[in-house]
Amino acid sequence: MNKIPVLCYHNISRAPYFNVKKRSLHTTTLNFYLQMKLLKFLGYKGLSISDGWEYITGKKVGKVVILTFDDGYVDNFKNALPILKKFGFSATLFVVSDLIGSYNKWYYKEANMIKPLMDEDQIKVWLDSGMEIASHTRTHPILTDLDEKSIEDEVLNSKIILERKFKVKIRHFCYPYGKYNDLVISYVKKANYESAWTLDRGRYKVGDDLFSAKRINIPKDANIIRFYIKLFTDYEDKRGNILFSI
Ligand SMILES: [Zn+2]
Repeated sequence: MNKIPVLCYHNISRAPYFNVKKRSLHTTTLNFYLQMKLLKFLGYKGLSISDGWEYITGKKVGKVVILTFDDGYVDNFKNALPILKKFGFSATLFVVSDLIGSYNKWYYKEANMIKPLMDEDQIKVWLDSGMEIASHTRTHPILTDLDEKSIEDEVLNSKIILERKFKVKIRHFCYPYGKYNDLVISYVKKANYESAWTLDRGRYKVGDDLFSAKRINIPKDANIIRFYIKLFTDYEDKRGNILFSI
């Protein structure tokens, strides 16, 4: 049974000290560095979804970990990109297509925190550095709450917008808040995505459904031991039905 850890990060920066919710979405730059260093030390390669596609689809077997970043924060560009480059790794950034250069409009009030999102130039540098971008809808809605026309608009048009703007193929999708159902999946397939990633916990197992694919969230307080346990034991797999909180 070939299991591949697909890691889900949000912010790579220190969580603010003032009273904000969603602090758990932050991984410090130092922790991120140590995590990537451990992967390298253990002989693993960190790859974007497309770079790791042959492993995900079972055509190749090897020591790989898939790296994904949700939402497209500027701190990923400033803090994670240099580390990824240092270790020769690649990663997938799930971009909210209508909020490029803007901020986390979908939950800044609730989180009591404005977090800037990468602008067009930063995404271009990200791509030129060998990284991948993929779609996280146009506006980051709860897709399962939308009517069919709006689902199609968010799922399909985000792909079209990103492909036109950056002249790259957008192959993969990520559900905002991890919310999906059969109707949403049908539109993701109709838009010709090759995979769609959730917030369901567990390691991806080759052969799993690629449109409700599991990931491993790396929370703020994940020290290096906990990081190891999450990636390389069945700790996360046993929590498969628990949605990790975002
Ligand atoms: Zn998101």
